Amino acid sequence: MVKETGYYDLLGVKPTSTPDEIKKAYRKLALKFHPDKNPNEGEKFKAISQAYEVLSDVKKRETYDRGGEEAIKGGGHGADFHNPMDIFDMFFGGGGRQRGPKKGKDVVHQLKVSLEDLYNGATRKLALQKNVICGKCEGRGGKEGAVGKCRICKGTGMQIRIHQLAPGMVQQIQTVCSECRGEGESIDPKHMCKHCNGKKVTRERKILEVHIDKGMKDGENIRFTGDGDQEPGIEAGDIIIVLDEKEHDRFQRQDLDLITEMEIELVEALCGFQKTIQTLDDRTLVITSLPGDVIKDKEIKCVMNEGMPIKRDPFEKGRLVIKFKVKFPENNFLPAAKLTQLDNLLPPRKEVIIPDDAEEHDLEDYNPRDRRRSRQRNAHDEDDDDEMGPGGQRVQCASH
Ligand SMILES: [Zn+2]
Ligand SMILES: [Zn+2]
Repeated sequence: MVKETGYYDLLGVKPTSTPDEIKKAYRKLALKFHPDKNPNEGEKFKAISQAYEVLSDVKKRETYDRGGEEAIKGGGHGADFHNPMDIFDMFFGGGGRQRGPKKGKDVVHQLKVSLEDLYNGATRKLALQKNVICGKCEGRGGKEGAVGKCRICKGTGMQIRIHQLAPGMVQQIQTVCSECRGEGESIDPKHMCKHCNGKKVTRERKILEVHIDKGMKDGENIRFTGDGDQEPGIEAGDIIIVLDEKEHDRFQRQDLDLITEMEIELVEALCGFQKTIQTLDDRTLVITSLPGDVIKDKEIKCVMNEGMPIKRDPFEKGRLVIKFKVKFPENNFLPAAKLTQLDNLLPPRKEVIIPDDAEEHDLEDYNPRDRRRSRQRNAHDEDDDDEMGPGGQRVQCASH
């Protein structure tokens, strides 16, 4: 039991979730609430980041589970969280910001892919909007020579205002130049580039071709170096495409293994069978259980080399794991006379010794909510009766 679940709730996971599930949850939420995509959700982005920072660290997660947020914030470690942007950059392998001011920031996009895409490999086209240096003025913003230092701030980008507080008492306030918005440049309006309106960049649609290799994983990054937003004077950042694996209706992926469920009839479980499975590249596999082999309910078998391909060695594959579900026949599927035949064929029963004073009971269908009828009662239990709520559930005392 954990003390509180706030951080888990923020990420939409359970306290029993695996590190992978926590990573995946953070990935989805961080991309959704990143200030680039959702400028008004800064607080939410920060909260998600803090929750992830705690839950992704074994020690901090333990501390949180034991003592809650208070233990994290007052426990001497973890009290100061990292910048949410740094956590994000670290997670997605970005970090244009740390490599110096000369490089633009990386842009992360998510791409939904099917399990078939990851199994067979695929090429997907992705249309993006990005800033491109204006081709008409080559990023100057106007005709050559039309761009000069801002006359108001003299190229510093800052303006100093004198504010009189009282006679003889003035205060200097430094503000961003309102004329050039801090750029330190002004463009003669007559010669301003009409294509970009002096902004030096234009917003353009760009088609990215994303190559998905066989065996790539959910959450894997594909980086397009230098394909991020362009800005005059700095190196463009990267575009990072994060793969987001869609759920499949027949297969579940677990690393290299593909897991599927197969329902078989009782006769097949006992006497053998042949069944087919359609693979993710549309081949038909036939699997055989020989007469004499018994498959039990919930038994797990596997087919070697029919799982997911290994990324750099796609002819090698993981396992296809089959979880069997044995379908039992309905009540009265055989007339009583024939049951005797079946009884004689099945392995013999174990002998049961029934003492004379044994009590007889019928089997009833089990309903987890209806505890009252089947409860054995004695005098002590009768006293508890008024604590039972409607439907036989115990009413819990609220304690705070
Ligand atoms: Zn231009
Ligand atoms: Zn200025």
